[in-house]
Amino acid sequence: AIPAVLMGATPVTAADHVDVLGIDIDNLTMEEALAAILITLKSPEPAQVCFVNADCANITCRDREYLEVLKGASLTLADGIGMRLAGKILGQPIRENVNGTDLFPRLSDALSRTGQGLYLLGGRPGIAEGVAQWLQEHYPQLVISGTHHGYFSTAEEPDVIAEIARSEAAVLMVAFGAPKQDQWIARNLAATRVKVAMGVGGLFDFYSGNIPRAPQWMREVNAEWLY
Ligand code: UDP
Repeated sequence: AIPAVLMGATPVTAADHVDVLGIDIDNLTMEEALAAILITLKSPEPAQVCFVNADCANITCRDREYLEVLKGASLTLADGIGMRLAGKILGQPIRENVNGTDLFPRLSDALSRTGQGLYLLGGRPGIAEGVAQWLQEHYPQLVISGTHHGYFSTAEEPDVIAEIARSEAAVLMVAFGAPKQDQWIARNLAATRVKVAMGVGGLFDFYSGNIPRAPQWMREVNAEWLY
């Protein structure tokens, strides 16, 4: 029944912002989110993009610092079917499931046309390199500014940040899982000198081939969470 409810058309009257547990969600479609990120890349101010799924929303109830990070983000996007279900229940329809995993190839394609670089930070050693290899195969023009695993110590952190800054990447993807990745970005965005940074959770594990994504048919019936 849940997939049937969720697959119904979203009214065109959907609000531009939706409040879920005090989180101000930017109620954008995938295309609008991509366009907003590309506009941000031209802005002099660095921007943080957060993907919020149902688990993230629940975490904010016990982690107020994370809630503040989400409130301070330039873009807060509704990730997953749980958020769409929340929108239905709250009478504030969410336009689309805008998750990082589906946005990733679209953003990579767009970046490959601009010449702006992408830095991949996170995952077990070798995973970010696996994603870089996938990107080189699919978007050969894309500039990969650098990669680094996500298991460095606090003592090593300044070197990691300096390496990202030296790489002159425009976009930084951080895959430490939520809320760690989003809190890390909020603390270090300025020091990395990137234009846009986003927390992408398990995305690197999917694109490196480390963990398989749910089959297409499960995604189409809104059951990827179940997989
Ligand atoms: N990870 C990391 N450093 C850490 C903790 C986690 O790089 O200190 C990586 C981990 O290897 C995995 C990702 O963060 O690739 C977490 O993925 P998960 O699916 O748990 O995140 P979610 O999408 O649920 O936020």
